[in-house]
Amino acid sequence: MASASGSPVRVRFCPSPTGNPHVGLVRTALFNWAFARHNQGTMVFRIEDTDAARDSEESYNQLLDSLRWLGLDWDEGPEVGGPHAPYRQSQRMDIYRDVAEKLLTGGYAYHCYCTTEELDERRDAARAAGKPSGYDGHCRELSAEQKAAYEAEGRTAIVRFRMPDEPITFTDLVRGELTFTPDNVPDYGIVRANGAPLYTLVNPVDDALMEITHVLRGEDLLSSTPRQIALYKALIELGVAKGTPAFGHLPYVMGEGNKKLSKRDPQASLNIYRERGFLPEGLLNYLSLLGWSFSADQDVFSISDMIAKFDVADVNANPARFDLKKAESINGDHIRLLDVKAFTAACEPWLTAPHANWAPEDFDRAAWEAIAPHAQTRVTVLSDITANVDFLFLKEPVEDEASWAKAMKEGSDALLRTAREKLESADWSSPESLKEAVLAAGEAHGLKLGKAQAPVRVAVTGRTVGLPLFESLEILGKEKTLARIDAALAKLAA
Ligand code: GLU
Ligand code: ZN
Repeated sequence: MASASGSPVRVRFCPSPTGNPHVGLVRTALFNWAFARHNQGTMVFRIEDTDAARDSEESYNQLLDSLRWLGLDWDEGPEVGGPHAPYRQSQRMDIYRDVAEKLLTGGYAYHCYCTTEELDERRDAARAAGKPSGYDGHCRELSAEQKAAYEAEGRTAIVRFRMPDEPITFTDLVRGELTFTPDNVPDYGIVRANGAPLYTLVNPVDDALMEITHVLRGEDLLSSTPRQIALYKALIELGVAKGTPAFGHLPYVMGEGNKKLSKRDPQASLNIYRERGFLPEGLLNYLSLLGWSFSADQDVFSISDMIAKFDVADVNANPARFDLKKAESINGDHIRLLDVKAFTAACEPWLTAPHANWAPEDFDRAAWEAIAPHAQTRVTVLSDITANVDFLFLKEPVEDEASWAKAMKEGSDALLRTAREKLESADWSSPESLKEAVLAAGEAHGLKLGKAQAPVRVAVTGRTVGLPLFESLEILGKEKTLARIDAALAKLAA
């Protein structure tokens, strides 16, 4: 599909490589990506690494790795290249220098010699007088003599963009028509005194050169949009830009206590979800609901269904609440949607990783494959699998005192002895026969199945809750099951 301007959709995801990727960033990437894919458009991935002090190569690598893990692929950008390469801003400095020069020559920008102290002083005075407190245009019309005098004083100048004196109105794709008055959007810096170009310049310049048609980004960047629209107008007049993109600002994501989810919130770190075993499709499904909805009665859907339905016009402007419980529940639904082979494979890294209490070589693939179908309905994140099946790989079951105290009552030893006897002579080729054995042991002691199986479960698995017991016993095998009951009897006797 084509954009409003008639050209094919081109969107961009353009993070700065600082810190760890966080969920807000992923939500922005996802919405851009879904919009591109829905419209058979182009997803541009650009790295905004112009801040050498804060950017890191580690963060850059994490960004790429995270997008690949999530399956958010890009058509132009790092590693894949494209017609507008390079896609790392640190490699495009000549371009920015050249555009800044054109803006200065064309009178769209000017040198500002004000010192921070002077700016602060004038801002405070304006405030005290109840006037707009942004940059006051002091250096807008400096004569050559004034400039020379400042330079003779040893001052260095920043480059400042000249904002128009009229209001700027645009139609936000999410929020509708918005107007910013000149008082609210003063002239702003685009190049530092040391020559380093700022985000305010490099971001719209690259959007222009890369022919971005739609800018979808977080609400925190809304205030930069009128500035960028004004800059675009200059770039179009200079022949640098072909048109102005449409802008859509995605709603804030709120965390605990209804406060904006901050990058530093542990809940916000993408790595946490990955380490806990969220599926990419589960996490993306959940994140898509932060500001968008699939339908009134369906929260669980595939990524391809999302792409088919996604339109930025349906994004809600109201803040979205990050709800971990809901994220987990949706992920659990996606886990159940996997075919059992995929589920079995997806869990394996958690089971073969070094554990505190079992070694990778204790992992028994046949036992795992046998129990996996029973486990698939029980986990909401893949890392949950460990506690569900560790009894198969541990030499001895975990010691969980709370479970032990709950299941081992007066008479549990007698019950366990009878259960052991019945299990010993049971047919171990079917869980039914094992169930009969425990049922019969319970009857002998006046206990219903639920009460009779609790001590057996704790003796064998260490925990009061777990996977279906008789399937678990069958998979663990007769010898180990009986040995664990013996160990529990010995512990009870002691
Ligand atoms: N590099 C900017 C950021 O990470 C991009 C903002 C934008 O989308 O314009 O905040
Ligand atoms: Zn100035």
